[in-house]
Amino acid sequence: ESFKRIHEVDEKVQAFLTLNEEQARTKAKELDEKLATEKEFGLLFGMPIGIKDNIVTKGLRTTCASKILYNFDPIYDATVVERLHQADAVTIGKLNMDEFAMGSSTENSGFQLTRNPWDLERVPGGSSGGSAAAVAAGEVPFALGSDTGGSIRQPAAFCGVVGLKPTYGRVSRYGLVAFASSLDQIGPITRNVEDNAYLLQVISGVDPMDSTSANVDVPDYVSALTGDIQGLKIAVPKEYLGEGVSEEVRQSVLDALKVLEGLGATWEEVSLPHSKYALATYYLLASSEASANLARFDGVRYGYRTDNAKNLIDMYKQTRSEGFGNEVKRRIMLGTFALSSGHYDAYYKKAQKVRTLIKQDFENVFEKYDVIIGPTTPTPAFKIGEKTSDPLTMYANDILTIPVNLAGVPGISIPCGFVNGLPVGLQIIGKHFDESTIYRVAHAFE
Ligand code: GLN
Repeated sequence: ESFKRIHEVDEKVQAFLTLNEEQARTKAKELDEKLATEKEFGLLFGMPIGIKDNIVTKGLRTTCASKILYNFDPIYDATVVERLHQADAVTIGKLNMDEFAMGSSTENSGFQLTRNPWDLERVPGGSSGGSAAAVAAGEVPFALGSDTGGSIRQPAAFCGVVGLKPTYGRVSRYGLVAFASSLDQIGPITRNVEDNAYLLQVISGVDPMDSTSANVDVPDYVSALTGDIQGLKIAVPKEYLGEGVSEEVRQSVLDALKVLEGLGATWEEVSLPHSKYALATYYLLASSEASANLARFDGVRYGYRTDNAKNLIDMYKQTRSEGFGNEVKRRIMLGTFALSSGHYDAYYKKAQKVRTLIKQDFENVFEKYDVIIGPTTPTPAFKIGEKTSDPLTMYANDILTIPVNLAGVPGISIPCGFVNGLPVGLQIIGKHFDESTIYRVAHAFE
C-alpha cells in the first residue's frame, strides 16, 4: 500500500531519495509467515516506516543528501533501525533532508527539492523535510527524523504532523551521522500522538554503542495517554509570543491554551530571559561541532573522491570543495574559525557558558510548572526560494526550537490549527526524560 501511494504522489512531493522496495517485499513475506506460525509479534508489526537519510541502514544507500556520500552503502544498521526490525516494522526507504541536516527548508539537499503537500509552492521545513512531507502526504504512517536545533519539530509544524525531539540521551545516536553531537537526537514523526508514542517506545533506551545514551528506565508511553490533564500547570514564555511571531500564529496558540484550560489545566506567563542569546549560541556551538565531525569526509574513507588531484593534500581539498554544498562549507568555515586558537575563548567557550544559562532558565521554570507551551515556529511554511538568499533569515526560523536542544529537554510539535490553509504547530516542552507528560498533554489536546 505504501509503495502504491508513493508511486502516486512522490513524483510531486519528492520526499524519498531511495526506495527499499525489493527488501521490503521480502520482509513482508517473512512477516506473513510469522503471522501464520508464531504467537508473539513486535509492537510495530508490519508497519511501513521511512527513515531520514542521515541514519545508516545496512546495504541501503545512505547519503545525508550530500554528493560527498552519493554512493555510500553502510555495512551496519543504526541501533534505532535494528530496534525497528526487532519490532517487525518494514523499512520502506530513505527520506530527503537538508545536506547533513543543516537547514530549515530541505532546500539544501544536494539531490532534489521536497515540496510541502499542503501547498506545493512552499517548503516542507527542514532539515527532516522529507520525513514530515512523506507522513503528511500519506506515503508512510511512520518516519524517523533527527533534531539538532528543530529539524523534527519545525517540519512537523509546517506539514501538520506530530514530531517529537526526545530528551538528549533518550534515544541512541549510534548510526546517526553526526552533525553536532551534543545536540543531535533521533525522534519519531507520525500522523497522531498515539503512533508517536508507539514509535518512541520502540527506539528508546540505553545502548552500549552510544556512551551518551542514558541509563534511565523507559516508561510505557502509550499508557500515559489517559486524556486527563486536570490540575496541570502550564508555563507560557513571553519571549515565545513576542516580536517576530505572526499575529495568526499567536492567536492559534492562545486558542489552544483555552482548550487546555477547558480540560482542567491552568497557565501563566513566565520568562526564559536568556532566549535572545540562543540563536547565536547555537550557531557557534553547532558549527564548531560540525567542523570537527565532518573532517572524516576526506575522499579516502567514504563516498566521493575527485578524479583530478595531483597529490594527497590536493585530493582532500578537491574532494571536499566538489562534494560539499554551500551551506555545509559555510558551517565548516564558521566552526573552524570559532575553534581556532586565539578565538576559542571569545566564541566557543563563551557560547558554552551561555548554554548553561539557557539550561538554567528551563530548570527554574520547571521547578513550578509541568510543561512549557508556545508556538513551534514564528510563521507557517514559507515559499520555496523565499529565504535562500539570506542565511540569517533562514536561521531565524529556528528561534523557538533551538533553546530546547541547548537545554537537552524534550519537545513535541502537534498541529493546532490553520492559517490561510497552512498548518500551525503547537510546541509542548517537558522536563528531562518526561516525554510521558508531553504525550499526555498532546493527546488530551488532540
Ligand atoms: N535549522 C537548524 C540548522 O540549520 C537545525 C537543523 C537541525 O535540527 N538538524 O542547524
